[in-house]
Amino acid sequence: VPELPEVEVVRRGLEGHVVGRTIAVVEVCHPRAVRRHVAGEADFVARLVGAELPTVHRRGKYLWLPLVVPGPRAGDAQEADEALVGHLGMSGQLLVCEPGVADHTHLRVRIGFTDGGPELRFVDQRTFGGLFVEPLVPGDPPVPRSLTHIARDVLDPLFDDAAFHAALRVRRTGLKSALLDQSLISGVGNIYADEALWRAKLHYARPTGTLRRPDTDRLLAAVREVMTAALALGGTSFDSLYVNVNGQSGYFDRSLRAYGRAGQPCERCGTTIRREPFANRSSYFCPRCQRSASARYVTATRPGEIH
Ligand SMILES: [Zn+2]
Repeated sequence: VPELPEVEVVRRGLEGHVVGRTIAVVEVCHPRAVRRHVAGEADFVARLVGAELPTVHRRGKYLWLPLVVPGPRAGDAQEADEALVGHLGMSGQLLVCEPGVADHTHLRVRIGFTDGGPELRFVDQRTFGGLFVEPLVPGDPPVPRSLTHIARDVLDPLFDDAAFHAALRVRRTGLKSALLDQSLISGVGNIYADEALWRAKLHYARPTGTLRRPDTDRLLAAVREVMTAALALGGTSFDSLYVNVNGQSGYFDRSLRAYGRAGQPCERCGTTIRREPFANRSSYFCPRCQRSASARYVTATRPGEIH
């Protein structure tokens, strides 16, 4: 499943290859890929053809390209009031390839440009992802209507650390649940949550109300570190003409300290990494480095123990 760093790599690829161009033709090869465009396939195509793409944004795992439709007179400055939105789902890929390249088996949408150059292809084997056009809601930047509930991510310069801490303090939930809550902080999936918690030495089930500001600062620094490292590695595998995301990141193989390491020694203290069930998935953590608040209390009441 593509996580934030992989989607950011795609955003940068689109920025380099699609931004500044004008859409000439759109072909929907599979209706499921545009199911979230409620007005239907023909409307989807009509809104895109002739539109110029001035920029590309990302929030969490969503990407969007504002659509500028030229005014009646040449040179008319136009503001985008809607955008092409994309979500990669489980297996979605956005590929930039020369028009002559043979169609991919799971090609869902093809977008051609007026300059006759490389086209944008949405390929998705499992079709959980999709494309749709939606009105933009004013903001910094303007955001598609259905994405307004998604919080900024830690790589966003406007992410508010103090507000995030305040929100954690009033929640009645565990720390990992809060990290996975897109309305608090976006783009942190199961793997990155475990990695960041290990780095910050925080237990996944720690009640968010018990966090002090230094804990939150350490946690956010860890999330930023993990995301930035993954982004650097994802960026190195990026071919200049081939925007690709398939959920595989070099980061997953090389740099995991907690996730998937059950039974192996913690690289910091040597204690065996433990796996516990968490919301139909798993949490990996070091029981020594990442003690829960309650566990710390229990051990602290045992006489003669040193912490
Ligand atoms: Zn440890």
